[in-house]
Amino acid sequence: MTIAVLGAGAMGSYFGGRLALAGASVVLIDVDDVRMATIARDGLRLSDDSGEHRVALRTARAAELREPVELVIVFTKGLHTAAAIQSARHLVGATTWALTLQNGLGNPEAIASVVPPARIAMGVTDLPADLEGPAHVRSHGAGTVRLWSMDGADSPALRAIAARLAGAGLDCRASPGIATDIWEKAAFNAALNALAAITRLPVGGLDNPHGRAIATAVVDETVAAAAASGVALERARVLDKIAFALGHHRSHQPSMLQDVLAGRPTEIDTINGAILRAAERAGLDAPVNRTLLHIVRLIEGRPAT
Ligand code: NAD
Repeated sequence: MTIAVLGAGAMGSYFGGRLALAGASVVLIDVDDVRMATIARDGLRLSDDSGEHRVALRTARAAELREPVELVIVFTKGLHTAAAIQSARHLVGATTWALTLQNGLGNPEAIASVVPPARIAMGVTDLPADLEGPAHVRSHGAGTVRLWSMDGADSPALRAIAARLAGAGLDCRASPGIATDIWEKAAFNAALNALAAITRLPVGGLDNPHGRAIATAVVDETVAAAAASGVALERARVLDKIAFALGHHRSHQPSMLQDVLAGRPTEIDTINGAILRAAERAGLDAPVNRTLLHIVRLIEGRPAT
Protein backbone atom coordinates (compact mmCIF):
# COMPACT_ATOMS: atom_id res chain seq x y z
CA MET A 1 0.00 0.00 0.00
CA THR A 2 1.35 3.47 -0.88
CA ILE A 3 0.71 5.87 1.96
CA ALA A 4 1.29 9.61 2.24
CA VAL A 5 1.32 10.98 5.78
CA LEU A 6 0.22 14.61 5.53
CA GLY A 7 1.53 16.39 8.62
CA ALA A 8 4.47 14.40 9.92
CA GLY A 9 4.85 15.77 13.43
CA ALA A 10 4.62 13.56 16.50
CA MET A 11 1.63 11.44 15.44
CA GLY A 12 2.32 11.45 11.71
CA SER A 13 5.93 10.37 12.22
CA TYR A 14 4.90 7.63 14.64
CA PHE A 15 2.16 6.19 12.41
CA GLY A 16 4.29 6.61 9.28
CA GLY A 17 7.24 4.94 10.97
CA ARG A 18 5.20 2.00 12.25
CA LEU A 19 3.56 1.47 8.84
CA ALA A 20 6.94 1.60 7.09
CA LEU A 21 8.40 -0.91 9.57
CA ALA A 22 5.50 -3.22 8.60
CA GLY A 23 6.38 -2.97 4.93
CA ALA A 24 4.17 -0.17 3.56
CA SER A 25 5.60 2.34 1.10
CA VAL A 26 5.35 5.57 3.12
CA VAL A 27 6.19 9.16 2.28
CA LEU A 28 6.10 11.80 5.01
CA ILE A 29 4.83 15.20 3.84
CA ASP A 30 5.39 18.25 6.00
CA VAL A 31 6.08 21.97 5.67
CA ASP A 32 8.92 21.71 8.22
CA ASP A 33 11.75 21.36 5.70
CA VAL A 34 14.51 21.13 8.30
CA ARG A 35 12.88 18.22 10.13
CA MET A 36 12.01 16.43 6.90
CA ALA A 37 15.61 16.80 5.65
CA THR A 38 16.91 15.36 8.93
CA ILE A 39 14.59 12.34 8.67
CA ALA A 40 15.48 11.82 5.00
CA ARG A 41 19.19 11.92 5.85
CA ASP A 42 19.34 10.01 9.15
CA GLY A 43 16.12 8.00 9.12
CA LEU A 44 13.48 8.26 11.83
CA ARG A 45 14.36 7.07 15.29
CA LEU A 46 11.20 5.47 16.69
CA SER A 47 11.05 4.51 20.36
CA ASP A 48 8.08 2.66 21.80
CA ASP A 49 7.25 -0.27 24.05
CA SER A 50 8.46 -2.66 21.36
CA GLY A 51 11.95 -1.13 21.51
CA GLU A 52 14.18 1.21 19.52
CA HIS A 53 13.91 1.33 15.73
CA ARG A 54 15.63 3.25 12.95
CA VAL A 55 13.26 3.65 9.98
CA ALA A 56 14.31 4.79 6.51
CA LEU A 57 11.56 7.08 5.21
CA ARG A 58 10.99 9.19 2.14
CA THR A 59 10.03 12.80 2.89
CA ALA A 60 8.69 15.53 0.62
CA ARG A 61 6.71 18.68 0.21
CA ALA A 62 3.31 17.81 -1.31
CA ALA A 63 4.13 19.77 -4.49
CA GLU A 64 7.21 17.62 -5.11
CA LEU A 65 5.13 14.45 -5.53
CA ARG A 66 3.35 13.48 -8.74
CA GLU A 67 1.59 10.12 -8.41
CA PRO A 68 -1.69 9.53 -6.54
CA VAL A 69 -1.32 7.33 -3.46
CA GLU A 70 -3.65 4.68 -2.07
CA LEU A 71 -4.04 6.31 1.35
CA VAL A 72 -3.49 9.84 2.68
CA ILE A 73 -3.27 9.96 6.49
CA VAL A 74 -3.90 13.52 7.66
CA PHE A 75 -2.10 14.29 10.91
CA THR A 76 -1.71 18.08 10.96
CA LYS A 77 -3.20 20.04 13.83
CA GLY A 78 -6.85 20.81 13.09
CA LEU A 79 -6.20 24.41 12.11
CA HIS A 80 -4.03 23.25 9.19
CA THR A 81 -6.23 20.45 7.82
CA ALA A 82 -7.91 22.47 5.06
CA ALA A 83 -4.68 23.97 3.70
CA ALA A 84 -2.84 20.65 3.94
CA ILE A 85 -5.43 18.60 2.04
CA GLN A 86 -5.72 21.29 -0.65
CA SER A 87 -1.94 21.16 -1.13
CA ALA A 88 -2.16 17.38 -1.62
CA ARG A 89 -5.17 17.22 -3.95
CA HIS A 90 -3.02 15.92 -6.84
CA LEU A 91 -2.16 12.86 -4.69
CA VAL A 92 -5.85 11.92 -4.54
CA GLY A 93 -6.84 9.65 -7.41
CA ALA A 94 -10.11 7.89 -8.20
CA THR A 95 -9.55 5.18 -5.56
CA THR A 96 -7.51 7.08 -2.96
CA TRP A 97 -8.78 6.99 0.63
CA ALA A 98 -8.05 9.55 3.33
CA LEU A 99 -7.83 8.82 7.05
CA THR A 100 -8.06 11.32 9.89
CA LEU A 101 -7.49 10.47 13.54
CA GLN A 102 -6.99 14.11 14.50
CA ASN A 103 -8.57 15.56 17.61
CA GLY A 104 -11.52 17.92 17.46
CA LEU A 105 -14.44 18.25 15.07
CA GLY A 106 -14.64 19.26 11.41
CA ASN A 107 -11.50 17.56 10.09
CA PRO A 108 -13.38 14.99 7.92
CA GLU A 109 -15.52 17.82 6.53
CA ALA A 110 -12.38 19.80 5.61
CA ILE A 111 -10.89 16.72 3.92
CA ALA A 112 -14.19 16.23 2.05
CA SER A 113 -13.36 19.34 0.01
CA VAL A 114 -10.90 17.06 -1.83
CA VAL A 115 -11.84 13.41 -1.07
CA PRO A 116 -15.46 12.16 -1.30
CA PRO A 117 -16.97 11.14 2.08
CA ALA A 118 -17.35 7.56 0.80
CA ARG A 119 -13.53 7.35 0.77
CA ILE A 120 -12.82 9.13 4.06
CA ALA A 121 -12.10 7.07 7.16
CA MET A 122 -12.36 8.97 10.42
CA GLY A 123 -11.65 8.02 13.96
CA VAL A 124 -9.92 8.54 17.27
CA THR A 125 -6.77 7.34 18.91
CA ASP A 126 -5.50 7.66 22.45
CA LEU A 127 -2.01 6.49 21.51
CA PRO A 128 0.38 9.22 22.65
CA ALA A 129 3.34 10.45 20.61
CA ASP A 130 5.96 13.10 21.31
CA LEU A 131 8.80 14.45 19.23
CA GLU A 132 12.00 14.08 21.25
CA GLY A 133 14.07 15.67 18.51
CA PRO A 134 13.72 16.53 14.81
CA ALA A 135 14.01 12.88 13.78
CA HIS A 136 13.08 11.08 16.99
CA VAL A 137 9.54 10.13 17.95
CA ARG A 138 8.53 8.38 21.14
CA SER A 139 5.30 6.66 22.11
CA HIS A 140 4.64 4.72 25.27
CA GLY A 141 1.86 2.79 26.94
CA ALA A 142 -1.25 1.20 25.58
CA GLY A 143 -3.65 2.91 23.24
CA THR A 144 -6.22 2.09 20.61
CA VAL A 145 -7.28 3.30 17.18
CA ARG A 146 -10.95 3.18 16.21
CA LEU A 147 -12.18 4.21 12.78
CA TRP A 148 -15.12 4.05 10.40
CA SER A 149 -16.12 5.65 7.13
CA MET A 150 -17.48 9.18 7.04
CA ASP A 151 -20.55 8.11 5.02
CA GLY A 152 -21.32 5.28 7.46
CA ALA A 153 -20.85 2.45 4.94
CA ASP A 154 -18.79 -0.68 5.53
CA SER A 155 -16.42 -1.73 2.73
CA PRO A 156 -13.43 -3.97 2.03
CA ALA A 157 -11.29 -0.85 1.53
CA LEU A 158 -12.20 0.45 4.99
CA ARG A 159 -11.43 -2.94 6.53
CA ALA A 160 -8.12 -3.04 4.65
CA ILE A 161 -7.06 0.29 6.19
CA ALA A 162 -7.91 -0.96 9.69
CA ALA A 163 -6.05 -4.22 8.98
CA ARG A 164 -3.03 -2.34 7.68
CA LEU A 165 -2.80 -0.28 10.91
CA ALA A 166 -3.33 -3.40 13.04
CA GLY A 167 -0.60 -5.15 11.06
CA ALA A 168 1.72 -2.27 11.91
CA GLY A 169 1.36 -3.09 15.60
CA LEU A 170 -1.32 -0.48 16.33
CA ASP A 171 -4.40 -1.74 18.17
CA CYS A 172 -6.83 -0.74 15.42
CA ARG A 173 -10.41 -1.81 14.85
CA ALA A 174 -13.17 -0.71 12.50
CA SER A 175 -15.99 0.56 14.69
CA PRO A 176 -19.35 1.77 13.30
CA GLY A 177 -20.26 4.11 16.20
CA ILE A 178 -17.30 6.35 15.50
CA ALA A 179 -19.16 9.69 15.52
CA THR A 180 -19.93 9.16 19.20
CA ASP A 181 -16.26 8.41 19.93
CA ILE A 182 -15.13 11.54 18.08
CA TRP A 183 -17.60 13.75 19.95
CA GLU A 184 -16.74 12.08 23.25
CA LYS A 185 -13.06 12.85 22.78
CA ALA A 186 -13.89 16.41 21.71
CA ALA A 187 -15.98 16.84 24.88
CA PHE A 188 -13.12 15.56 27.04
CA ASN A 189 -10.57 17.81 25.32
CA ALA A 190 -12.90 20.82 25.39
CA ALA A 191 -13.45 20.36 29.12
CA LEU A 192 -9.78 20.09 30.15
CA ASN A 193 -7.44 21.44 27.47
CA ALA A 194 -8.56 25.05 27.22
CA LEU A 195 -8.78 25.34 31.00
CA ALA A 196 -5.25 23.98 31.38
CA ALA A 197 -4.00 26.33 28.65
CA ILE A 198 -5.60 29.37 30.30
CA THR A 199 -4.54 28.57 33.86
CA ARG A 200 -1.20 27.02 32.82
CA LEU A 201 -1.99 24.22 35.24
CA PRO A 202 -1.40 20.53 34.50
CA VAL A 203 -4.45 18.28 34.68
CA GLY A 204 -4.12 17.70 38.44
CA GLY A 205 -4.31 21.45 39.04
CA LEU A 206 -7.88 21.43 37.68
CA ASP A 207 -8.93 18.82 40.26
CA ASN A 208 -10.91 21.11 42.58
CA PRO A 209 -14.54 22.39 42.72
CA HIS A 210 -13.73 25.31 40.38
CA GLY A 211 -12.07 23.22 37.69
CA ARG A 212 -14.73 20.52 37.91
CA ALA A 213 -17.57 23.09 37.70
CA ILE A 214 -16.22 24.56 34.45
CA ALA A 215 -15.43 21.13 32.99
CA THR A 216 -18.94 19.89 33.81
CA ALA A 217 -20.52 22.95 32.20
CA VAL A 218 -18.47 22.35 29.04
CA VAL A 219 -19.59 18.72 28.96
CA ASP A 220 -23.25 19.70 29.39
CA GLU A 221 -23.00 22.17 26.50
CA THR A 222 -21.23 19.57 24.35
CA VAL A 223 -23.79 16.85 25.08
CA ALA A 224 -26.54 19.26 23.98
CA ALA A 225 -24.65 20.31 20.82
CA ALA A 226 -23.95 16.67 19.96
CA ALA A 227 -27.60 15.70 20.44
CA ALA A 228 -28.63 18.56 18.16
CA SER A 229 -26.13 17.19 15.60
CA GLY A 230 -27.66 13.70 15.80
CA VAL A 231 -25.03 12.17 18.10
CA ALA A 232 -26.03 10.72 21.48
CA LEU A 233 -23.25 11.33 24.02
CA GLU A 234 -23.38 9.67 27.42
CA ARG A 235 -22.83 12.52 29.88
CA ALA A 236 -21.89 10.22 32.77
CA ARG A 237 -19.31 8.39 30.63
CA VAL A 238 -17.57 11.63 29.63
CA LEU A 239 -17.60 12.87 33.23
CA ASP A 240 -16.13 9.54 34.39
CA LYS A 241 -13.28 9.87 31.91
CA ILE A 242 -12.61 13.42 33.12
CA ALA A 243 -12.66 12.29 36.76
CA PHE A 244 -10.20 9.52 35.89
CA ALA A 245 -7.83 11.98 34.18
CA LEU A 246 -8.08 14.43 37.09
CA GLY A 247 -7.16 11.63 39.48
CA HIS A 248 -4.58 9.71 37.45
CA HIS A 249 -2.96 12.00 34.86
CA ARG A 250 -2.19 14.77 37.31
CA SER A 251 1.14 15.89 35.90
CA HIS A 252 0.03 15.71 32.25
CA GLN A 253 0.19 18.96 30.29
CA PRO A 254 -2.52 18.82 27.59
CA SER A 255 -1.26 19.73 24.11
CA MET A 256 -3.13 23.04 24.20
CA LEU A 257 -1.15 24.05 27.30
CA GLN A 258 2.07 22.92 25.61
CA ASP A 259 1.14 25.00 22.53
CA VAL A 260 0.42 28.12 24.61
CA LEU A 261 3.68 27.73 26.55
CA ALA A 262 5.57 27.37 23.25
CA GLY A 263 3.80 30.36 21.64
CA ARG A 264 2.17 28.14 18.98
CA PRO A 265 -1.42 28.46 17.76
CA THR A 266 -3.74 25.94 19.41
CA GLU A 267 -6.54 23.62 18.27
CA ILE A 268 -9.12 25.74 20.13
CA ASP A 269 -11.09 26.41 16.91
CA THR A 270 -11.64 22.73 16.11
CA ILE A 271 -12.41 21.83 19.73
CA ASN A 272 -14.35 24.43 21.77
CA GLY A 273 -14.93 26.57 18.65
CA ALA A 274 -16.43 23.68 16.69
CA ILE A 275 -18.69 22.72 19.61
CA LEU A 276 -19.89 26.34 19.84
CA ARG A 277 -20.63 26.42 16.09
CA ALA A 278 -22.55 23.12 16.29
CA ALA A 279 -24.61 24.53 19.16
CA GLU A 280 -25.30 27.77 17.30
CA ARG A 281 -26.35 25.90 14.14
CA ALA A 282 -29.05 24.23 16.24
CA GLY A 283 -30.19 27.52 17.79
CA LEU A 284 -28.52 26.69 21.12
CA ASP A 285 -25.97 28.67 23.07
CA ALA A 286 -22.70 27.36 24.53
CA PRO A 287 -21.50 30.29 26.65
CA VAL A 288 -18.79 28.45 28.57
CA ASN A 289 -17.23 27.06 25.38
CA ARG A 290 -17.50 30.55 23.84
CA THR A 291 -15.73 32.14 26.80
CA LEU A 292 -12.93 29.57 26.76
CA LEU A 293 -12.56 30.08 23.00
CA HIS A 294 -12.23 33.85 23.40
CA ILE A 295 -9.76 33.63 26.28
CA VAL A 296 -7.51 31.16 24.44
CA ARG A 297 -7.66 33.37 21.34
CA LEU A 298 -6.69 36.35 23.50
CA ILE A 299 -3.73 34.37 24.77
CA GLU A 300 -2.79 33.40 21.21
CA GLY A 301 -2.91 37.08 20.25
CA ARG A 302 -5.41 36.45 17.51
CA PRO A 303 -8.43 38.67 16.93
CA ALA A 304 -11.75 37.10 17.93
CA THR A 305 -14.28 36.64 15.12
P1 NAD B 1 2.38 18.11 15.64
O1 NAD B 1 2.30 19.60 15.78
O2 NAD B 1 3.48 17.37 16.28
O3 NAD B 1 2.41 17.74 14.07
C1 NAD B 1 1.66 18.43 13.11
C2 NAD B 1 2.54 18.56 11.87
O4 NAD B 1 1.77 19.11 10.80
C3 NAD B 1 3.75 19.51 12.07
O5 NAD B 1 4.95 18.80 11.80
C4 NAD B 1 3.49 20.63 11.07
O6 NAD B 1 4.68 21.16 10.51
C5 NAD B 1 2.65 19.91 10.03
N1 NAD B 1 1.90 20.79 9.13
C6 NAD B 1 1.29 21.98 9.41
N2 NAD B 1 0.72 22.47 8.31
C7 NAD B 1 0.96 21.59 7.30
C8 NAD B 1 0.64 21.56 5.92
N3 NAD B 1 -0.07 22.52 5.34
N4 NAD B 1 1.06 20.50 5.19
C9 NAD B 1 1.80 19.49 5.76
N5 NAD B 1 2.14 19.48 7.07
C10 NAD B 1 1.73 20.52 7.82
O7 NAD B 1 0.96 17.55 16.11
P2 NAD B 1 0.63 16.08 16.69
O8 NAD B 1 0.88 16.06 18.15
O9 NAD B 1 1.24 15.08 15.82
O10 NAD B 1 -0.96 16.05 16.51
C11 NAD B 1 -1.58 15.85 15.26
C12 NAD B 1 -3.08 15.62 15.49
O11 NAD B 1 -3.25 14.42 16.26
C13 NAD B 1 -3.77 16.72 16.30
O12 NAD B 1 -5.09 16.86 15.89
C14 NAD B 1 -3.71 16.20 17.73
O13 NAD B 1 -4.69 16.76 18.58
C15 NAD B 1 -3.97 14.73 17.47
N6 NAD B 1 -3.47 13.80 18.50
C16 NAD B 1 -2.22 13.95 19.05
C17 NAD B 1 -1.79 13.04 19.99
C18 NAD B 1 -0.38 13.12 20.57
O14 NAD B 1 -0.09 12.40 21.54
N7 NAD B 1 0.53 13.90 20.01
C19 NAD B 1 -2.62 11.98 20.40
C20 NAD B 1 -3.88 11.85 19.81
C21 NAD B 1 -4.29 12.76 18.86
